[in-house]
Amino acid sequence: MEVLVQLEVLDVSAVIMDGKAISKEIQTEIADEVSQFVEQSGITPCLAAVLVGDDPASEVYVRNKHRACERAGISSQMHRLPASTSEEELLELIARLNAAEDVHGILIQLPLPASIDTLKVLDAVAPGKDVDAFHPENVGLISQGRPRFLPCTPHGIQQLLDRCGIEVSGKHTVIVGRSDIVGKPMSMLLMAKNSTRGPQAANATVTLCHSRTRNLAEVCRTADVIIAAIGVAKFITADMVKPGAVVVDVGINRTEDGLCGDVDFDAVSQVAGHITPVPGGVGPLTVTMLMYNTLDAAKLTLSGE
Ligand code: NDP
Repeated sequence: MEVLVQLEVLDVSAVIMDGKAISKEIQTEIADEVSQFVEQSGITPCLAAVLVGDDPASEVYVRNKHRACERAGISSQMHRLPASTSEEELLELIARLNAAEDVHGILIQLPLPASIDTLKVLDAVAPGKDVDAFHPENVGLISQGRPRFLPCTPHGIQQLLDRCGIEVSGKHTVIVGRSDIVGKPMSMLLMAKNSTRGPQAANATVTLCHSRTRNLAEVCRTADVIIAAIGVAKFITADMVKPGAVVVDVGINRTEDGLCGDVDFDAVSQVAGHITPVPGGVGPLTVTMLMYNTLDAAKLTLSGE
């Protein structure tokens, strides 16, 4: 499948890494695997999504995840709770889902209302059903290089880079952002000795930057690969990028002009060798890798984990 597109219309020189196309390619692979698994085991993988409150962005994310389940042949449950739900009520629901034999993956859509202790809730999800890989047990396994589940956004980025023919092994990768969801787990996957795509998609030399990093632009200019997960629109500018570098934009920022990433796409694409667009870059892969993990969670039930 042709996943790399030279964008001539905008007169950009970078190769666009088409996350949407790659995501579809992986979805087809997952759907094939799901149908084989169902045939052999008689078990249909099932993802239970929990949405508390009525945040419009969360509604969209949960709907996208539900559709991705349908496409993959994975069944899904939707548990909608009002914003007034107490922490105790939410924990009770999670306990029921943990015990339900027909539920293999549990997804708690974030953010939760401020009245609820998010970490307490995430810690309550059974590690074997924690398809977001947020539970401390799963984070620990990832850091030791023996993951049970791979964090969805970082794993999607690893898949994207490898399927675009970009090796990260031995290369200097600068990640901007140290969140528990993106930056930190991304650093762990890239510095690991191996990956689901082989050693060429891991073994990177990783620098993890954040708001206290000194001389950030200078650090970024030394990068062969930049991964931007900051949450500030167009933060990465052309002068921060080494000519020919690979730039992955994780950011999703809603601005007056619509959605945009953490990278100043128009300017950076004149300098970079490869770049992801927003939308259509990392976003679709995150949802797809959640399907990957739900299938894995269903497989775990067979091995008694
Ligand atoms: P967080 O807000 O949790 O983390 C942001 C990180 O950026 C922090 O580590 C922060 O540093 C760092 N940062 C903020 N300002 C600066 C600065 N001026 N210089 C250097 N570093 C800075 O965000 P997330 O990781 O959750 O998300 C990042 C972006 O990615 C958001 O736009 C989010 O919407 C998007 N996202 C997209 C996904 C997708 O599927 N495409 C999935 C998840 C997130 P410090 O720690 O010092 O405060």
